[in-house]
Amino acid sequence: MSYIQQVRDTVAARNVGQPEFMQAVDEVLTTIAPIVESDAVYKNNAILERITEPDRQIMFRVPWTDDNGNIRVNRGYRVQFNNAIGPYKGGLRLHPSVNLSIIKFLSFEQIFKNSLTGLPIGGGKGGSDFDPKGKSEREIREFCQSFMTELARHIGADVDVPAGDIGVSGREIGYMFGQYKRLTNVYEGVLTGKGLPYGGSLARTEATGFGLVYIVQNMLETIGDGFKGKTVAISGAGNVAIYAAQKATELGGKVVTMSDSNGWIYDKNGINLQVIKDIKEIKRGRIKEYTDRVNGAEYHTDDNVWQTKCDIALPCATQNELTLADAKTLIKNGVIAVGEGANMPSTTEAINAFQAAHVLFMPAKAANAGGVAVSALEMSQNSQRLSWSFDKVDDKLKYIMRDIFDKAASAAKQYATPADYVAGANIAGFLKVAQAMIAQGV
Ligand code: NDP
Repeated sequence: MSYIQQVRDTVAARNVGQPEFMQAVDEVLTTIAPIVESDAVYKNNAILERITEPDRQIMFRVPWTDDNGNIRVNRGYRVQFNNAIGPYKGGLRLHPSVNLSIIKFLSFEQIFKNSLTGLPIGGGKGGSDFDPKGKSEREIREFCQSFMTELARHIGADVDVPAGDIGVSGREIGYMFGQYKRLTNVYEGVLTGKGLPYGGSLARTEATGFGLVYIVQNMLETIGDGFKGKTVAISGAGNVAIYAAQKATELGGKVVTMSDSNGWIYDKNGINLQVIKDIKEIKRGRIKEYTDRVNGAEYHTDDNVWQTKCDIALPCATQNELTLADAKTLIKNGVIAVGEGANMPSTTEAINAFQAAHVLFMPAKAANAGGVAVSALEMSQNSQRLSWSFDKVDDKLKYIMRDIFDKAASAAKQYATPADYVAGANIAGFLKVAQAMIAQGV
């Protein structure tokens, strides 16, 4: 049995009932096989056994009171997976679906993504099964304070620096930052995605969506193409989706779909982003309201955005939202390129189908790394007690996304198949972390 297979079986036996985590591990192990099998140094240093086991997994009780005076209890998580190249870094997700498997898959992916950015950040992720939908401002604040009351003892500007993810935007980061300061009496860059008046970075809000479009543009350039004149389907209507839609539109694309967990909209004239921002960022409403405000737009609750004919597909909602059946429909409809804004939004079978059909495919680890990259730039600004202009951060983001593209493309060419960016991103991300782990000893 190969070394890869042995490790895979051990990880599966040890992590029973964690399908998302195993999906992420399988994808990485399969794609890095050529380099791991070609050099005994990885086996001799037990790199795969070590890289698939988190440094620590923290689970904790988060008690809070609702507006009716009832005491409620949620479960909090922080998985600190690997700090070989820098402090743990990765977002916090608040969603009822959150469990250990989901946080572990996200944290594991984060190791390679953060490595690809070229910045000194390790991999971590956290969150809770708390559902922010329908909660009052006071309930959100109290939950965030209670969550941070436990999390504070495990994090720090040089230890672990959480950020936002699904259900965690500037508002939640603000409440958590306030509580961290109250508990520790230390003013430091312990969280990223902060508000601009207290240490946030310009362009952090836009970074993941903009970065996604920059790297897809880099990928399209390899076939002499770009966003100009293209029809774009986007899922989600949150932070990543909104700013991907904005940049795709600025580059000349026409975004025709967006969605939330209740349904999706189709606007043949191109989505009006001011209306979306008002509904989602200001009123915190449902995407259905778009059709009340924009003539001719459609709202659907059956099927999903991938039924729409498009040239470019950008899944920006959640994991496993794009299945094999969706991939087949997109391919039949002539899709040219897919870029993953969300983490692991395409199932393994869907990725295989895109690659078999020679659709340009940029995996999440590379495609959505712009968010964490600008978070690392926020850490740099906090350490220097400086703040950079929007254009300076945006220029650095463009440079980082181009660099990630080049690394993934060149690793694909050297170790796998040209334009296999899934293998390329995994291999390039892995090599740097593995070298650091070997150098630092067991
Ligand atoms: P938001 O909470 O801002 O938005 C999430 C969007 O996806 C919402 O429209 C939400 O709809 C929808 N959604 C969430 N869960 C589901 C579900 N189970 N089924 C259908 N729709 C769903 O999150 P972000 O935009 O920040 O994150 C989106 C994705 O991007 C996630 O996979 C995240 O891990 C990833 N990501 C985010 C980064 C960031 O900087 N924010 C960085 C890198 C990756 P509804 O409002 O109805 O729940």
